[in-house]
Amino acid sequence: MDFAETLLSWYDTHKRDLPWRETKDAYRIWISEIILQQTRVEQGWDYYLRFIDRFPDAKNLAQADEDEVLRLWQGLGYYSRARNLHTAAKTVAKQGSFPTTYEEVRALKGVGDYTAAAICSIAYNMPVAVLDGNVFRVLARYFHVELPINSTKGRKYFAKLAQELLPEAQAGTYNQAIMDFGALQCVPARPNCEQCPLRDSCSAFHQGDVSHFPVKERRLTVKDRYMAYVFLHQNGKTLMHQRIGSDIWRGLYEPLLIEFEQKPTDSEILTHSVLQSIDTSLVLHERVGILKHKLTHRTLYIRAFDAEVSQHANIPSGYQWVDAREMSQLPLPRAIELLLEKSMP
Ligand code: SF4
Repeated sequence: MDFAETLLSWYDTHKRDLPWRETKDAYRIWISEIILQQTRVEQGWDYYLRFIDRFPDAKNLAQADEDEVLRLWQGLGYYSRARNLHTAAKTVAKQGSFPTTYEEVRALKGVGDYTAAAICSIAYNMPVAVLDGNVFRVLARYFHVELPINSTKGRKYFAKLAQELLPEAQAGTYNQAIMDFGALQCVPARPNCEQCPLRDSCSAFHQGDVSHFPVKERRLTVKDRYMAYVFLHQNGKTLMHQRIGSDIWRGLYEPLLIEFEQKPTDSEILTHSVLQSIDTSLVLHERVGILKHKLTHRTLYIRAFDAEVSQHANIPSGYQWVDAREMSQLPLPRAIELLLEKSMP
């Protein structure tokens, strides 16, 4: 038996008896798929039955008051799903019947690629493969696919693979079979490999690295940082210090830095206690506007100021006065170089 035949045979014995599996009515399948988007089967079950009981077709749902739709949804969370269902039901009611092409189904509010494929294959046996977390996991393990499932290349690869494996005559049943297989047998943690009908030909099982799949790309979260640099001058020299610690630009030099949690106002910068502790009579001149500087996982919003300090200023420890020649020899972050390229006072 090939991959698809094995899954269909497994499904025949193990399939879950779910209320929405008793119908081929696209409207009911749509309702069930929207409920299941962010809800576990066990929790969604009763909601589905209540929803279908009150709104047996799109016309009934379209005519309902939004408050009533939301009340029936209460407890399921993600209320945009209920609002989208209501809006889409009005579209369906206006058209007279539930859409029958993939494109029309996909165009309904709240319906994405996965949901459209599920509705069309289950209701109409249309040959479109579904791709959800379960399908990604089963395919990644069985075929030992190293491509990250959350990368563009990975998604394209899996979509093509899933489509090639789909037995066209049994598209709907097969789609449900592979999703159930992922939900019951090839589960994320501790899959039941010992009693798996695909075990003999499963690549990850044979290579002993089942838990490695599916591969996911770690996405870097880009954080915003708000920085104000103050170039303090005295007798033609500028106050600089070397960055230490595990932060960005370790070992490089910079002028006095004040950091803020959020975008600071002018007054928050000009009256900052660090400046006050150095010299209460400082007058700041802004050097450039906001400099936006992108690093791999940080976006820096930098403002830069110049100020002359008096002989009596309270210079913080760790700083040194450097003249223009010394400055040109210091290792500097690119952002500071850019600021220095702006006119010096
Ligand atoms: S052998 Fe294990 S990893 Fe491979 S398909 Fe079966 S349950 Fe999944």
